[in-house]
Amino acid sequence: MALRNLLAAALALALGAPLAAQMQPTPKASFGAGPYETLVIRGATVITGNAGPPYGPADIIVKNGRIAEIRSAGTPGLAMAQNRPPQDATREIDATGMYVLPGFVDMHGHQGDAQKMPDPSYAFRLWLAHGVTTIRGNPLYGGNAARALEEKRLAARGEIDAPRIFAYQTLGSGWDGGRVQSPEKAREWVRWAARAGIDGIKFFNRGDETPAIVRAAIDEAKTLGLGTVAHFYGHFESMLDGRRVQDTPADYNFNNEQQRFGGIAEIWDQIHPPGGPEWQAYLKAQLATGVVFDPTFNIYSASRDLMRAKNADWHVRYTPPVLRNFFLSNRDNHGSYFFDWTSTNEVTWRNFYGRYMRLINDYKNMGGRVTTGSDPGFIWQSWGFGYILELEMLQEAGFAPLEVIQAATINGATTLMEPKGEAPDFGLIRVGMRADMVIAPENPLANFKTLYGTGTERLNDATNRQERIGGIRWTIKDGIVFDAPALLASVARDVAAANAAVADPAPAP
Ligand SMILES: [Zn+2]
Repeated sequence: MALRNLLAAALALALGAPLAAQMQPTPKASFGAGPYETLVIRGATVITGNAGPPYGPADIIVKNGRIAEIRSAGTPGLAMAQNRPPQDATREIDATGMYVLPGFVDMHGHQGDAQKMPDPSYAFRLWLAHGVTTIRGNPLYGGNAARALEEKRLAARGEIDAPRIFAYQTLGSGWDGGRVQSPEKAREWVRWAARAGIDGIKFFNRGDETPAIVRAAIDEAKTLGLGTVAHFYGHFESMLDGRRVQDTPADYNFNNEQQRFGGIAEIWDQIHPPGGPEWQAYLKAQLATGVVFDPTFNIYSASRDLMRAKNADWHVRYTPPVLRNFFLSNRDNHGSYFFDWTSTNEVTWRNFYGRYMRLINDYKNMGGRVTTGSDPGFIWQSWGFGYILELEMLQEAGFAPLEVIQAATINGATTLMEPKGEAPDFGLIRVGMRADMVIAPENPLANFKTLYGTGTERLNDATNRQERIGGIRWTIKDGIVFDAPALLASVARDVAAANAAVADPAPAP
């Protein structure tokens, strides 16, 4: 933050003025086209979402937002047949040589904090530009359930440019019934939430959330078809070796975020051996109760390599100064905890990641369901970009690329619909499903980096020059077609304008 801004901020604080603008209304939809009576996507290779083998070339015929038919467009290696039906489509997309996969599901979404970006469409545009067609708000708009539910309705009707929203809210938020401090009150809130259209409960395991209250809320949620999700750091605390509580420094203070986030990793060598009986027993207990793991690897990745996260390719064009200032280390902002980050901290985090990733991969191999979430807007990770990083990190954990796509699509859809007692109608490229699709010119199974809005770099052998390739070409949600590069260009324009309005737009060294 430039000195001038710092002084202005200090002055604003002293005068009691708000530091940032209020959250703005979400603009009306303007980037999507459709849904169409008949939309045909021609000549693509299909990646189904259920880890089945990719196939193609195929034509996908979408009618009124649903996949009506998938037809062979020819044989690999031969010219495709000409004049393939239907010939009366309202819109044609030539995806010859491209790859089609189901729209991505981000199981850990946040958005709606004016301190980070007052324009809510910023996050929505970046999500859509990275192929995310469904998000679980975990929650959205802080505790403002009314706003989250309104956005959910507007997104479902295509009135705002946004992914489909599943609105999860914290216990006691959004109603005028007061704090939830008894099991009966918890049940009362869940009944209210179900009537209001809230899809599930987000637990933080703190404050009023005693075990008895959480049990009552979960029990009522199961009866009424609401999902439940908890922030959870307890995997390795459940398999400590030779002690019952993590060994922490004597001056450890949970509210000191460098100590808290440093401590998450410092447990890595206090546990039973990976793969040993205690490790297996822990995972089997999770599997027996049907717990779904949503590891959000990406959101802590700055901890293992702070310089990389701060200087990621996308910040220059896509991170506005207000968000960059939020990320810069300070003692107030949640997740901005690099007060005096050391080589030792980074080495510890790398060791922790090795074990954490193995745990998640072992769970998948044992039959446990793993989903993909980004937890964006903290710790130098932004909307969309962090989601693609999550795909890369699932692969690093040992997932085959097809398993990564499965985690990112049908696994999320199943997890969101399961509490409602319904099979998902999105998350697969299959006849009858909602037309949620990602269309990309490069094969994502060969390189997930190609899905970043900034693409990736490749040497052009014809010119011996490095080029940026990749990016998603179109994202389709409920048959509405979004031009991903146009979404990115609009965000880049907004960020350039915001940079022009501050004294020192360059990231702090
Ligand atoms: Zn979160």
